[in-house]
Amino acid sequence: LEPAYQFMVRVRAAGGIVTPEQWLMMDRVARQHGNGTIRLTTRQSFQLHGVIKWNMKKLIQEVNDELLSTLAACGDVNRNVMCNPNPNQSEVHEQVYEWAQKVSRHLDPHTRAYHEIWLDEEKLVDSREGDEQEPIYGAVYLPRKFKIGIAVPPANEVDVFSQDLGLIAIHENGHLLGFNVAVGGGMGMSHGDPKTYPQVARTIGFITPDQLIEVAEKTVTIQRDYGDRAVRKHARFKYTIDDRGIEWFIDELQLRLGWKLQEARSYHFDHNGDRYGWVKGSDNNWHFTLYIQNGRVKDENDYLLMTGLCEIAKVHTGDFRLTPNQNLIIGNVTSQKKKKIQELIEAYGLTDGTAYSALRRNSMACVALPTCGLAMAEAERYLPTLLDKIELILDEAGLRDDEIVIRMTGCPNGCARPALAEISFIGKAPGKYNLYLGGGFAGNRLNKLYRENIGETEILNELRPILNRYAKERTEGEHFGDFCIRGEYVKEVHSGLDFHA
Ligand code: SF4
Repeated sequence: LEPAYQFMVRVRAAGGIVTPEQWLMMDRVARQHGNGTIRLTTRQSFQLHGVIKWNMKKLIQEVNDELLSTLAACGDVNRNVMCNPNPNQSEVHEQVYEWAQKVSRHLDPHTRAYHEIWLDEEKLVDSREGDEQEPIYGAVYLPRKFKIGIAVPPANEVDVFSQDLGLIAIHENGHLLGFNVAVGGGMGMSHGDPKTYPQVARTIGFITPDQLIEVAEKTVTIQRDYGDRAVRKHARFKYTIDDRGIEWFIDELQLRLGWKLQEARSYHFDHNGDRYGWVKGSDNNWHFTLYIQNGRVKDENDYLLMTGLCEIAKVHTGDFRLTPNQNLIIGNVTSQKKKKIQELIEAYGLTDGTAYSALRRNSMACVALPTCGLAMAEAERYLPTLLDKIELILDEAGLRDDEIVIRMTGCPNGCARPALAEISFIGKAPGKYNLYLGGGFAGNRLNKLYRENIGETEILNELRPILNRYAKERTEGEHFGDFCIRGEYVKEVHSGLDFHA
């Protein structure tokens, strides 16, 4: 008898946009083949947990029947291309989203093996004879995963500086002019190994939209050719660039392109969190951002979130947008449908997060225990409880409505992009975390280690005086991460190279 092995299945959609029909399919397969919940991820993908091995093929086929895919949602290839989810800048978002889809399609692996194995499609070539060509990835694919994200200033929900290739849309009067290109970001590191570190992507120039595919492809091929294939911990693109220098990369890219990038254009980011509730887009459609604690869609006690969303999907004619902060936008609701959707939101008590502290609305945790095999500590299941206790400190200090970005992961792989939070916790052992402070509010600066290997009581004892002092001594508009640097709790980090210094 074979053991009932359980798997996680990740489903991707470029830019995290799905139709109501696709949502209903995800709901159905999660109930039938998974553990009855849907996890929205920090890369605008879906994860289904608890999928028993013998249900996996059926699940993948149902996902593909609705035109979503699990292909390249994992592995040493380009992953889901992230895109600003916010439809209220409709014209620019529409254009940027189309480019996200084009880049995603262009970098998809060409292998037919996926279709043969999972979708029972006909075997077209015998890959053992070397007939199958991967024009971008070649015979051995990339040394490690590769991540791309597109931000539309002033919003930086995708944390563009955490990406291997980050694109910053430059727009004017609703028209997309092109993208600033940023390269070499990444969150992962290993505890106790200072040769590994999180890094922020560096901006190297500006390109027009029609140059984007070529730049993405050449960037990926540089990593394919120069990335470290001997030491996996050192195989991410950020190390390829840091080892050889950013000037080397620019020269190599321009050599492969045969033309030069223009000088980077100016832009401004003012946040990386979501904006909740109803907003009206410039095309007069409405969009409602729901707060979903740590991206977990499930029915629990009286809060029937999963059922409520299912009922909304049955009448909704717009789309659903997964945000990079693990929330969900019910997008493109027409004025005629808005009343009905609002009735369902109220009937199921779905929350836009306004009842919560601004800290909680800006919180994010990875899956961690019990599902992730790399987790050293809890994250998704513990952060809400810790927030309850930090909120008591916020109430004392009068900071309940002040936006502070807080993130937790169960290990230093960094799936919830902890190194860019103003306060972050990275798991070291059950109940023990490293505490980092000083990240930039708009995802534009790495944080720094403040205390190592501490439990809940020490966490609260450390944060209480800092939050109280912040409440009293902050300057006009000063964010908490900036205050932690000015208040000399941590040194400012300019690059991953001084993260451990
Ligand atoms: Fe990612 Fe580590 Fe969290 Fe697992 S425990 S989800 S690998 S950050």
